Amino acid sequence: MQSCQVCGNPVTDSIEQETGRTMSGAKEIDPTAGTKRFWGGKWYHFDTLVCRSKFESSPNSYLEA
Ligand SMILES: [Zn+2]
Repeated sequence: MQSCQVCGNPVTDSIEQETGRTMSGAKEIDPTAGTKRFWGGKWYHFDTLVCRSKFESSPNSYLEA
């Protein structure tokens, strides 16, 4: 299970912003929305959009050492 990068709470479901469907029917996810964030080469998960906002305002302070 993922845990929130900011507060450490378990993340059960990522909120994903579906932008549409590909030709094959797969979901297209907007990487700039929802509670996942691709940053610095990997995905980070957050339990709420509030935590995501905190991360985005100061990513370096939340990155794993
Ligand atoms: Zn959190």
